[in-house]
Amino acid sequence: MYRPELLYEGKAKKIFRTEDPERVRVEYKDDATAYNGGKKGFITGKGELNNRISAFFFDYLGKRGIRHHFLSLLSSTEQLVKRVTILPVEVVVRNRAAGSMAKRLGLEEGLSFPRPVVEFYYKDDRLGDPLINEDHIALLELATRKQVMDMRETALKVNQQLVGLMAEKGVDLVDFKLEFGVDGRGDLLVADEISPDTCRFWDRVTGKKLDKDRFRRDLGEVEDAYREIWNRLGEDVLV
Ligand code: UDP
Repeated sequence: MYRPELLYEGKAKKIFRTEDPERVRVEYKDDATAYNGGKKGFITGKGELNNRISAFFFDYLGKRGIRHHFLSLLSSTEQLVKRVTILPVEVVVRNRAAGSMAKRLGLEEGLSFPRPVVEFYYKDDRLGDPLINEDHIALLELATRKQVMDMRETALKVNQQLVGLMAEKGVDLVDFKLEFGVDGRGDLLVADEISPDTCRFWDRVTGKKLDKDRFRRDLGEVEDAYREIWNRLGEDVLV
């Protein structure tokens, strides 16, 4: 019998080999971590909700010309994606001040920006994922200049699409993080996940946080918040 081989286990997902070397199976877990693993917990139902929400966003973006790794849902907690090599750079887009940026620059949380701000972080747990710029990326050879331009442009396109989509659902997209991967043909694709673990979502009317900040800051009703995002996306069960 074919035994699925675990290729990688991260904080929120497991990646398994499939019979096709070009594809891997991603299993979303209920485990939650924050502050670079300093805070650990468990959010019942998160794996299923993030699997569905992420699939929904990738599909939505793909239909609007954004290239991504998602292929199909396999079950309530699993999805099939293209196998890629993840670049060690996290790309954050911000529409309003929050989290580390509000702290670093002394900005009031919630301040709206006239135009989105794009930031790069070096994906390295040992260093605590430091903020870096294009010159640091070139110096450390984390990505080519062309890939950096492409990541920036794609991240802004993703932002434009998701801001519009979420606004229709009564939600403000405050900021989010993307990861990019390179496939066997050398193409750059949006990879990893797009979910309340990786985005800040605020209710447009009440300002209620509908994302991982509920876990990070012990605000309670964490699962309800993730479910609220899924419900607002208004999708019927996909599998
Ligand atoms: N983010 C993420 N993974 C990380 C760091 C940040 O998904 O390792 C997301 C986070 O959820 C938020 C955005 O990126 O939507 C900006 O996060 P920030 O730099 O403010 O860091 P935080 O306050 O989350 O530590």
